[in-house]
Amino acid sequence: MERVVEIEKLKFESEYENSLRPTSWGDYIGQEQIKKNLQVFIKASKKRGESLDHVLFFGPPGLGKTTLAYIIANEMVANIKITAAPMIEKSGDLAAILTNLEEGDILFIDEIHRLSPAIEEILYPAMEDFRLDIIIGSGPAAQTIKIDLPKFTLIGATTRAGMISSPLRDRFGMHFRLQFYSSQELSKIIQKAAIKLEKPCDGDAALEMAKRCRGTPRIALRLLKRIRDYADVEDENMINLFRAKYGLEELGVDSMGFDEMDLRFINILLESDGRPLGLSTIAAALSEDEGTIEDVIEPYLISKGYIERTARGRVATPKCFELFRKNQKALF
Ligand code: ADP
Repeated sequence: MERVVEIEKLKFESEYENSLRPTSWGDYIGQEQIKKNLQVFIKASKKRGESLDHVLFFGPPGLGKTTLAYIIANEMVANIKITAAPMIEKSGDLAAILTNLEEGDILFIDEIHRLSPAIEEILYPAMEDFRLDIIIGSGPAAQTIKIDLPKFTLIGATTRAGMISSPLRDRFGMHFRLQFYSSQELSKIIQKAAIKLEKPCDGDAALEMAKRCRGTPRIALRLLKRIRDYADVEDENMINLFRAKYGLEELGVDSMGFDEMDLRFINILLESDGRPLGLSTIAAALSEDEGTIEDVIEPYLISKGYIERTARGRVATPKCFELFRKNQKALF
């Protein structure tokens, strides 16, 4: 069966996700501190008639980084161009993007930690002085041509704060770390989206889904879409608690909100009986790459206090041992 709670990035393919994406602060639930700060900085730069300073968002996938970029563009009444670092392979790719920008435009680069050092070098003067330095030729005959760029705002997003080089990080005027959402916040997100999907969802049903989506709106919306299918098939014009529970059960979504990978990960740690395990050992046991484990699986489990990263490796916390002992949970 397809993993329903997986968080892989489908945003560029996912039409329904775009249709559910909030476009204003009112629809963007949670992340209150980030919202409050951004609102002030946007207001100030609009008052001064300047473009907004560059913004960097950190956080696991699906927490709303791209959505924030869209809202900023909306608030600044600016065009937004969206790209991702893996799509910028050559310096010419970045030069083409930058020279096509207009005054006040917003450039969103997802997975910005994946830019190559050579591309980052081009970005530095562009971010600092709105200037593109192009080197023509090589050796002593090499020449640098400087091209002025319009004043734009770069919004970078990354799942891996530690992998951004410090010269790049320092050139962003604002840094924001997104947090996992509470069940109450996710429940609101689900209910708002359900209305947009013309299949309202009652409070209890929304809360049930909210508790099982790893604190992540993207997963919450994916679950909602599937449960809506179950309600549609039963000719129900509203999603109630019974249908939500039935759907979640059928989809195999764990009642404690873990996905299959979480459970396998925890199982490996529980079996090691408190002995720390290295990332590479866990990656091999899960047949998963280390980056996905660090970016996607671990942040949620750490935020909930189930695992810890120690100097000697990963360990399950007493809370984790307790939970699985109490629930007598047969993992596999
Ligand atoms: P990221 O860029 O961090 O991977 P996205 O911004 O693409 O995540 O968010 C995934 C989906 O979750 C979006 O389609 C959006 O509809 C929804 N979403 C994210 N954050 C929020 C929020 N705070 N309020 C409402 N919906 C949200």
